[in-house]
Parts: sequence; structure tokens; C-alpha cells
Amino acid sequence: MSTQSQGFAGRDPSAAPDAAQLCELRPGVYAWVQPDGSWWVNNAGAVSGDGETLVIDTCATARRTHRFLTALGDVTGGAPIRWAVNTHQHGDHTYGNSLLPAATVLIGHERMREGLRTDPIIDGCPAFWSPIPDWGRVRRRLPDVTITAAATVHVGERRVDLLHPGGPAHTTGDLVAWLPDDRILFAGDLLFAGLTPLVFMGSVTGALTALDWLAGMAPEVIVPGHGPVLAGGEIDRVLDEHRRYFQFVLSEADRGLARGATPLEIARDARLGEFADWADAERLVLNLHRVHADHAGHELDLVAALCDAVTWLGHPMPTSV
Ligand SMILES: [Zn+2]
Repeated sequence: MSTQSQGFAGRDPSAAPDAAQLCELRPGVYAWVQPDGSWWVNNAGAVSGDGETLVIDTCATARRTHRFLTALGDVTGGAPIRWAVNTHQHGDHTYGNSLLPAATVLIGHERMREGLRTDPIIDGCPAFWSPIPDWGRVRRRLPDVTITAAATVHVGERRVDLLHPGGPAHTTGDLVAWLPDDRILFAGDLLFAGLTPLVFMGSVTGALTALDWLAGMAPEVIVPGHGPVLAGGEIDRVLDEHRRYFQFVLSEADRGLARGATPLEIARDARLGEFADWADAERLVLNLHRVHADHAGHELDLVAALCDAVTWLGHPMPTSV
């Protein structure tokens, strides 16, 4: 225990791995919620019934994934994890895949699989973040089953629909897990509750469109990819916040691009206003890089974008992972 605590000396203890909690949303439906939800600290989930379990995402580090799977095993009586799904390619949702049992069938969008296959960060995190994350004993584990649009997993009596928004949004290979009978939605990183949304590997306009797609399901409970679980009126509020944020990014980009400004210059001139209190504000630079790349019709330069985010912030991006 002392070793774990030392690792978080000087950091917000509320973001330590032991602050994560398994919340039972309905009998057999669980959200693994990890405060504070900032860089690399994600949410995951699970659906369990008739003695088998579906896991929705893993975590960035071996330690965090181990905590999640242990807590899940405690409440399911060790029910075998027959399936797992990754909502998208990012390491905070996928690097822990290799801690799943060997027999687990892993599902993902086909572009998610390709994204993780070619992800260099699992082999060693660059110094864009501080402290530099240590993933622990994880290895790249790719989906066994890929889908492009939709699939359904039947967990006991419960139906879990895995759905792609139809185009790029948070990434190019997003999936949500929708439980239509419970009206519970595991949204992955299509939603960041109370934190700055990130779409630089997807599309700002696509992310806007995806908000309407999510709203159209009329969920009663949403487990976002980061931040607290949402219910009732909080859902519309958070969807509206995302709409305003993406429109803010697009309007800042429009004005800046018209005068030939770079994403970093546009971000330096922008006033965050109502979004200033959200963690990870430097994502504005990354999101502007996405608009800039789409406008120019070229590939986004990930390294250049991350360098600009660090420059805007004045130091590496903080993480508590
Ligand atoms: Zn993500």
C-alpha cells in the first residue's frame, strides 16, 4: 500500500487508482468509474448474467485494469468473461486487454483494431505527459472479431447492441454499447462529462453529428468514457455542453483559418469562457489541429499536434494514471 501511495505523492489523491469504484446501475450492469477522468484515466463497464460476463473496455495500466477485473470478479462470483468490447482504439481503453482471460473473445470496430495494431505509445509513452505513464505488464492485444456497423451480444436475457455512429467522431472506429431494455448507454469517448472533449483523431463535425445520434436513443443513463455517470436531466445538459464546445472549436477555427493562423495561434487567441474550468483545456489545440487538417485535406500530424498542446500549456500535460 505504501508503494502505491508514494506513486501519487504530490498529486490529487482523489485520482489515485484506489479511488475507482464499481457502480451497479441495474442488477448485472456495472460502470467502473475512475476519478478524475483526465488524461489516461477512463471509465469502463460490464454486463453479467446467467454466469457469464461482457466487459466494456479495459484501462490504461496493468494496475488499474487488475483493480477493475478484481472488483468485477468479486461481484459476479468470478463469472467467466466470455466477451469484451473496446469502444475505440485509445490506450486508456485498450492497453489492459492483455489482462483479460485468454479465452475471452475480444470485439472491436475494424478501424479500432488497425489503430491499436499501429499504436506506438503502448511500447513507451512519449514525454508529452507528466509523470510519463508506466503501463506496467501489458502487451498489445487486438480484437478477435471486428465489426463495421453493428453487432449484438446476448448476455443471459439481456441484449447489448454494439453500434458505430456511422462516421468519424471521437476516432474513426468508435462503438457504443447500448442496452435497449434498460436504456443504458456506454458511450465511450463520444462523451467526456465535465472534462474537455477530445476529437483530434476523429472529426469535430462528426462528433457533433454523433451527439444527435446518441440523443436519438433516448438513454436514461449514460456511462461516458471519462467523468461521472449521467442520468436524467444531466444527459441533455452534457450533450448541450458538448454541442456548444464543438461549435466553439469550429467558429474559432473558421476565423483563424481565414487569416492564415496556425492551430496554436488560434488557440492562443481563443477565450475558453464557460469551458475554462474543464480539465485538459489544452485539447483545444488538438481539436483545432483536426479542423485544420480536414480543411487543408491532409493527414493530422499527431506529434506536431501534441507538441503544440504542450507549448500552449507551458509544460507537459498532467496525468494521474
Ligand atoms: Zn479516447
